[in-house]
Amino acid sequence: SDHALTYPKSPADMGWASLYPAYAVKNGEEGKAENESHDQTEEEQRRAKAIMKNVEIADIGCGFGGLLFALAPKFPDTLMLGMEIRISVTEYVVDKIRALRTQHASTSAYQNISCLRANTMKFLPNFFSKHQLSKIFLCFPDPHFKQRKHKARIVSYTLNSEYAFVLRPGGIVYTITDVQDLHEWMVEHFERHPSFERVGEEEQEADECVRVMKSETEEGKKVERNGGTKFVALYRRVEDPPWP
Ligand code: SAM
Repeated sequence: SDHALTYPKSPADMGWASLYPAYAVKNGEEGKAENESHDQTEEEQRRAKAIMKNVEIADIGCGFGGLLFALAPKFPDTLMLGMEIRISVTEYVVDKIRALRTQHASTSAYQNISCLRANTMKFLPNFFSKHQLSKIFLCFPDPHFKQRKHKARIVSYTLNSEYAFVLRPGGIVYTITDVQDLHEWMVEHFERHPSFERVGEEEQEADECVRVMKSETEEGKKVERNGGTKFVALYRRVEDPPWP
């Protein structure tokens, strides 16, 4: 349950440097003796956790990380984060990233992806600041078929407001599912939300990320094997209207 979940008080409190060590900010403290570290000011402690660029892509409910592993070489300079609620699944992804980084130690491959355990329904704005992200992926979210379980779905009017907060204008939410009812639910909730407009079919099909989420996610592969249908919808974060 949630009390076992750790999450930062704010995005600046997050230990990003340990997730993306190749991007850690060097704080000029290297020459100092170890025993001086307890004298670090709050500002210095923050710098020690900081990275040179912010995470821009979030994979919400990333599962076993197929999307991240496929996107890593396609956006080599973009930091991406998988967020997953199941402990053992998160550990699997973290271990695999560690192994890939070691395997590719002579290059900087896979330094741009990371994964952490989080309940994204509750703490998203603790991880990302306003307009930080350019892409959010919601790939094959749990369908929660029963009416009384619909509140557990990761798309709702309230959650869409959180996605709108962390996404920059022009940024895109990618959704895919094999459950038609859930697809219609997601479309309905994004259509209703003033911060989003649907991306047209032509642009959608030309988007490399759409191909990746159809074919490289674990769920996408499973649906392929079973001959199921994949429903895709992309929503662009629009500019906020000017204050009256
Ligand atoms: N996105 C992956 C894919 O396409 O292969 C996994 C899809 S799987 C059906 C849904 C995933 O979302 C599961 O791994 C589940 O543990 C995770 N999940 C469900 N609710 C979550 C939440 N509130 N926060 C983070 N992850 C969640």
